[in-house]
Amino acid sequence: MNCNPKYLYIAPIFLFFSFIQLLPAAEPDQNKLKSETESYLPAPSENRRKMPGARFRKVVTQAVAQRAEHDSIALQEMNIYQSIFDDSSDDLMENHPADDIYHHIWTRERLNPYAIPIDSMPDSVRIFCKDFVAPVHSGIITSHFGPRRYRYHFGTDLRVKVGDSIRCSFDGKVRIIDYERRGYGHYVVIRHNNGLETVYAHLSKTLVEHNQTLKAGQVLGLGGNTGRSTGPHLHYEIRYLGNAINPVHMVDFAQNKMHEDSYLITRNTTFYYNSHLKELRSAKYYTVRRGDTLGRIAQRNGTSINRICRLNNISRKKTIRPGQRLRVR
Ligand SMILES: [Zn+2]
Repeated sequence: MNCNPKYLYIAPIFLFFSFIQLLPAAEPDQNKLKSETESYLPAPSENRRKMPGARFRKVVTQAVAQRAEHDSIALQEMNIYQSIFDDSSDDLMENHPADDIYHHIWTRERLNPYAIPIDSMPDSVRIFCKDFVAPVHSGIITSHFGPRRYRYHFGTDLRVKVGDSIRCSFDGKVRIIDYERRGYGHYVVIRHNNGLETVYAHLSKTLVEHNQTLKAGQVLGLGGNTGRSTGPHLHYEIRYLGNAINPVHMVDFAQNKMHEDSYLITRNTTFYYNSHLKELRSAKYYTVRRGDTLGRIAQRNGTSINRICRLNNISRKKTIRPGQRLRVR
């Protein structure tokens, strides 16, 4: 048999790699997240106010450790910022740069990893937005921020043509690039140096990378019609600590500029929709089955015909059809 010495040389290498494949996998995700986190941490500075930085680090580290043990429902209830907000010595009226506010929560996994109920948001925070650049220049709003039938629309929809340039609103860094077939489609989330986060959804194409630093006005993607969308538009959101701000309160879209050079976020006015949101979240729906009557549905759901009629804005005489969704709570 004609045995080429070259193959004898390769065989041990092949065996070595086969063995490596059999070893248990490490935990790359955690390491990856850690390095992402670290890359976003600010360089230590003498001038940074020590108290909030240290406190954030401690509270957030505990929260991240707890998160590993809890499911997502527990996470929703966990407010990692509560102790900071309760601390009267920390003046939240001052400008908190993004590094201080979010500290090392820097994840690409979810839009709102902070899970801060609006009731626990700070009373007021001033946001500086002088460097604002409008995400598109059409100036035409096709759908406003506000309630939808079974959910809440947390952004402003702006008319675009497929392929239009979509621009980053303020200086910042790319936190999420993702695709949701039934939701946002192709979308990008940017964390800005002024403390806000913005969302750009239904894009036809994204043109940035994770962790990329962007300047205000830089093109981050192209307008499109991906995800749950019935025509080309940009779904644009502005959020602070995960909670949405109605963009028209900050931006004059017809003029493509901010109403003011700064915006005062206040818990009661900025998050005016809080009570509506709570009501929506406590809502319960029932899908009508064959043979159902309003009386039977009311009885089955522990409510009254009058209340069902009021919640659904229908009269007692209204004919109900199988498959129809009725709000019962
Ligand atoms: Zn939208």
